[in-house]
Amino acid sequence: MTDIRIITEPSVRVVTRQRVDYSGLDALMGELGCQWESDAGEGPEAIPEVAGRLCYLSYPNPRPGGNAAYLRHILEAGHGRVLEHAVFGLLLTGISRSLSHELITHKAGASFSELSQRYVDCSGVAFVLPPAIYVGKKLADREIEQEGGAYSQHYHLLDAYWRWFDACGEALMSYEYEVESLTATAPAELTGTERRKWARQAARSVLPNCTETKVFMTANARCLRNMIEMRASRHADAEIRNLFCKVHDVLKAEAINLFGDYERVELPDGYELVTKYRKV
Ligand SMILES: Cc1cc2nc3c(=O)[nH]c(=O)nc-3n(C[C@H](O)[C@H](O)[C@H](O)COP(=O)(O)OP(=O)(O)OC[C@H]3O[C@@H](n4cnc5c(N)ncnc54)[C@H](O)[C@@H]3O)c2cc1C
Repeated sequence: MTDIRIITEPSVRVVTRQRVDYSGLDALMGELGCQWESDAGEGPEAIPEVAGRLCYLSYPNPRPGGNAAYLRHILEAGHGRVLEHAVFGLLLTGISRSLSHELITHKAGASFSELSQRYVDCSGVAFVLPPAIYVGKKLADREIEQEGGAYSQHYHLLDAYWRWFDACGEALMSYEYEVESLTATAPAELTGTERRKWARQAARSVLPNCTETKVFMTANARCLRNMIEMRASRHADAEIRNLFCKVHDVLKAEAINLFGDYERVELPDGYELVTKYRKV
């Protein structure tokens, strides 16, 4: 059996982002007799402004404050549809199948592509350690280290970790056994790829909810804001909360005027993100 790989933190990477091509506005600017470009340049924050200013043809006489003030007004007024013009593509890795199941309930304004357990061999798959078990293990490990390897009053938390670890190991062994025996007994008329798919699609049924998956998510800024509000909330599962705190961080670095209004509230097991501009 291959070694058991454990993941304790998800990873979020921005893979696709849009740019404004101002030459596409030349004819309109000629018609209006003005020249205009957002002070946000060509970046993602400029996109809702370029689109939104069309409604009132406000390019020739923008209010002071530039892109930051414009988008703040959109958030205050709740004109969320304008935010849908800005779209980001994120690669999410180190997340569990239970998380991805929750993720894809966000259907308005988002698209998902997820790793296939039918096509991809899961023999060396990693498992995502649930935050509560991880925190307990770290606590017990620290106490044992402080006591010179002798004692932890939280020993039961370590026990929870090892039970989880063993369950993952058992599942992986069962998976590998099922793949091997099903491949050997597959109907003779199946081709090589068909045989593997036939075996893996059955064998995957023994893998647990914490099996690692990878998702490519494309979503617009309005949808992403709603996801952050629902999933970086204290009411959300700890793993998805941790993920969406990271999603927020990378998006804020990309476009502070679209995602800079969230505030951090400390919780006993981490933090949540809140905003006064909810569900725009
Ligand atoms: C803490 C928590 C616990 C949850 N528990 C469960 C659970 O036990 N079981 C379960 O099944 N789900 C559960 N969910 C998922 C939840 O019910 C939503 O499906 C999910 O959060 C997606 O949010 P959304 O509906 O805002 O969807 P999105 O697709 O992100 O839609 C955004 C918004 O667009 C509008 N919209 C979307 N689709 C439509 C439509 N068809 N018609 C009209 N308006 C629409 C709505 O205003 C919606 O809020 C839970 C979510 C959270 C955060």
